[in-house]
Amino acid sequence: MIHIGKTYIKREKSKSFLCSDVIINDNKITLWFSIDTKYENYLCVNRADAFVMALLVPAMVFNHDIKCDDPISAKLKFFLSNQYIPTLSENIKQYHNIKIDSDTTTEPYKNCGAVGVGFSAGSDSMYSVLNNTKLTCKYPLTHLAVFNCVNFEKYEERSRNIFINNCKALQKFANRQKLKLVALDTNFYEGLHWRLTTEVVNMRTISCALALQGLFSTYLVSTPSFTLENFHIEMKTSVRFDLLTVNSASTESLSIYLSGAEADRVKKVTTISDYKPSYKWLHSCLGKTTPGRRNCCECKKCKDTQMILYVIGKLEKYKHVYDIKNFKNNLSRIMANYLIRNDPEATQVAKLINESHIEIPAESYKIAEQLKHIIKKQKEQ
Ligand SMILES: [Zn+2]
Repeated sequence: MIHIGKTYIKREKSKSFLCSDVIINDNKITLWFSIDTKYENYLCVNRADAFVMALLVPAMVFNHDIKCDDPISAKLKFFLSNQYIPTLSENIKQYHNIKIDSDTTTEPYKNCGAVGVGFSAGSDSMYSVLNNTKLTCKYPLTHLAVFNCVNFEKYEERSRNIFINNCKALQKFANRQKLKLVALDTNFYEGLHWRLTTEVVNMRTISCALALQGLFSTYLVSTPSFTLENFHIEMKTSVRFDLLTVNSASTESLSIYLSGAEADRVKKVTTISDYKPSYKWLHSCLGKTTPGRRNCCECKKCKDTQMILYVIGKLEKYKHVYDIKNFKNNLSRIMANYLIRNDPEATQVAKLINESHIEIPAESYKIAEQLKHIIKKQKEQ
């Protein structure tokens, strides 16, 4: 059983914390979301919505029913109990069909009518910004959101430092686009010792949006490289069933939508390559680089993005964020990867290369053969 206690606000220095004392198997922890005190009214108190969302996947994995002392928004509880939990537990053998025991409320939470999207300056969130401006949609973005809720770092403090640095950098981008930036910290990593990452990535992001129901009336979840035709329910790649997740996460006052599900990575990068702010800000990197500065240029995402930009003839525009000379010097080696990689992103890039009739250097085929040999040997060991 996971018992989510009543939510309450605590203040410390210039921060306000939305807290709940949570009991998991007789162990009590205080989970929190925190924001600058001047934005305390954004925090959604007296509802368990955000905490249920943050704890739902581990509850399903470790077969804990959830009991809440605060009510849950009625719409959210209905979709979780009647759609999300039964569907996932039916299709993922590690997930259990748990129950949520709580009161419900149909009263909309009073908010500022803000429209937000999670923002990292990567191609997915950059595409969402571009497609949701005053010129392109009826409900344009007002806020970029940065949440410290999925920790891929081993140490909480290091992750928090990255979050603080990213917020400072992305604030500059937000200012230039005349958007506001909202930063929300959590203690999920130190509070929740289950080492779940890709399984929980969007549930935790959505839990942060639900914690800010005093701010948002609309929140967009940017899809990664998977389009809707790739919809599939599997544990490790929860982003492939984002459509189900966002459709189960709205409340009476907060609508949550998918953004960019119609476009794969090639289309997104191609689209944003006409968006001038991306030339100095595109941050494709999985490494520890800071938005607005040069990407690592070596990780999988950096290579994919550079290759797409190279093939469509736009790479030179990104000289501030990529080492173009290094990319061109290593073109044969980088191109070889697309002859052997078969993940969805690489398949999209390989298709683009083939369709563009760009010449693949003979050297790339040789390197690809060598790489295949190395991979085969590694598998045999
Ligand atoms: Zn990188």
